[in-house]
Amino acid sequence: MEADLDKFSKFVKDSRSIVIFTGAGISTESGIPDFRSPGGLWEKHRPIDFSEFLASEEARRESWRRKFAMEPVLSKATPNKGHMAISSLYAQGKIAAVITQNIDGLHQASGIEEEDVIEVHGNTTYAKCLNCHERVSLDEVREVFSIEETLPTCGHCGGIVKTATISFGQPMPVMEMRRAEAAAQAADLFLAIGSSLVVYPAADIPLVAKQAGARLVILNREPTPLDRFADLVVQGEIGETLEYVTKL
Ligand code: NAD
Repeated sequence: MEADLDKFSKFVKDSRSIVIFTGAGISTESGIPDFRSPGGLWEKHRPIDFSEFLASEEARRESWRRKFAMEPVLSKATPNKGHMAISSLYAQGKIAAVITQNIDGLHQASGIEEEDVIEVHGNTTYAKCLNCHERVSLDEVREVFSIEETLPTCGHCGGIVKTATISFGQPMPVMEMRRAEAAAQAADLFLAIGSSLVVYPAADIPLVAKQAGARLVILNREPTPLDRFADLVVQGEIGETLEYVTKL
């Protein structure tokens, strides 16, 4: 393990253009449950997919109920050691982009500039009209929903309002996916951190980097299906591992 950590640290030192790719695992140490770990969100709820959200008012209500039930956890969460280790490398100018599947905004809160965070699954700290893309604040939605669970509609066009996240079955954001692929192609070191790497098409991005010549390191508590393509696989806890390798 120590040899792996030294190798990891050397890769970081030798790189000039690191691209980070994170999943829900980086935020568990901030108290936000991931999907697939024991006790994760999937043990509590089956995800509501996009077609169901569109087709059923009850699914939309359930989705807002879950959103507001999670809100106390999300709004209190702050960046942890893992986020901070990444932001310290960023401050040294070593990180070109942070691609994240997370929707919690914690990379931005850790000091990464908005324009350097590529959110491929959107953001849960606000909502959007699915028709005209008008941004809607959660406070507005909460107010409407608090009156007998009334579903929010867009003030401009009357369209359906949804958190600005990408649900299963919902088209991926085109610009973000293009930016993520371009960043992956330009990386000399690509770090996939805290992701089970089973949610596609996001899980293709580490392979884009590898195929374009980057070194690929996977840091996760459990094995992933992409481990065999990596130059280094580190199975450990994210906070302490990143703190260790970025300090050496
Ligand atoms: P996932 O739940 O499928 O995988 C998370 C992985 O992280 C697991 O393999 C787990 O073993 C590992 N992990 C958890 N805590 C860890 C730790 N402290 N140290 C090391 N490894 C740890 O998550 P995913 O791959 O991101 O895919 C699920 C989807 O869920 C994503 O698309 C994301 O949008 C969404 N999601 C986001 C959040 C968030 O924003 N924080 C939370 C839950 C789900």
